[in-house]
Amino acid sequence: MARLSQAKLANLNKTFEERTPEELLRWAHEIFGDRVAAISAMQKSGSVVCHMLSRLRLNIPVLFVDTGVMFEETLQTRDRIRDEYGLAVRTLKPALSMQQQTAEHGILYLSVEGQQQCCHMRKVEPLLAVKDDVDALIGSLRRADGGPRSDCPILAVDPEMNAVRINPLANVTDEQLAAYVSEQPIVVNPLHEQGYSTIGCNRCTTPVMPGEPKRAGRWRHLGPWSQYCGINPTDLDDDTSPAIDLPQDLVDRILGQKTDFMI
Ligand code: SF4
Repeated sequence: MARLSQAKLANLNKTFEERTPEELLRWAHEIFGDRVAAISAMQKSGSVVCHMLSRLRLNIPVLFVDTGVMFEETLQTRDRIRDEYGLAVRTLKPALSMQQQTAEHGILYLSVEGQQQCCHMRKVEPLLAVKDDVDALIGSLRRADGGPRSDCPILAVDPEMNAVRINPLANVTDEQLAAYVSEQPIVVNPLHEQGYSTIGCNRCTTPVMPGEPKRAGRWRHLGPWSQYCGINPTDLDDDTSPAIDLPQDLVDRILGQKTDFMI
């Protein structure tokens, strides 16, 4: 195995700023083969990534975490993406139903600490359950989303999943995204047209008022202290230099290097 740190990805990230999202998806397929999956919450940018995967015929599966308290519109969007884009969509679920969790732990999403625990059990743990299946995960984070995402890298290491996170839309602007959606037959979650700028669980997502930040509708009842669920590690503050362990030949392929000797 070989260590792959965020620092080692710096040069590649610089080069990748010039690549199109489609080129980045082809690179992901070429490097990781059947050990890469996309992850989508069935929001607009995720639909764009899914459409690109379908158009490029890369045969990359899509992971969807169903917390058990998703909006019906989100589940319908997932089914349409599976059927209309011809993608393999794998739904991941938490161990406990929301009813069982509430009986055991109370209503977690009504406090800041409880929200973190609830998001971990219902979003992060179902994803961690498939960590052995993948070396890379394709997401749809964009810098235009603001907050901690305003400097999200195209490639990031995810120590908890021991995988590379790939964000092919990182430098795609709102205007470019809107142009792609208007030019292509994109399956868009209808909640976006109903005032929801971002979409998560039905317990913790509301529409946003004109002029509010995009994520103002997430955990609104908890005030400004809760803004992210933790399923995307680059959303969280981390002043350490994260690293993951991958086979040496895979690290070589990612970095485009050859190892001539082993120590
Ligand atoms: S968004 Fe709310 S309901 Fe969904 S997992 Fe997080 S705290 Fe729980």
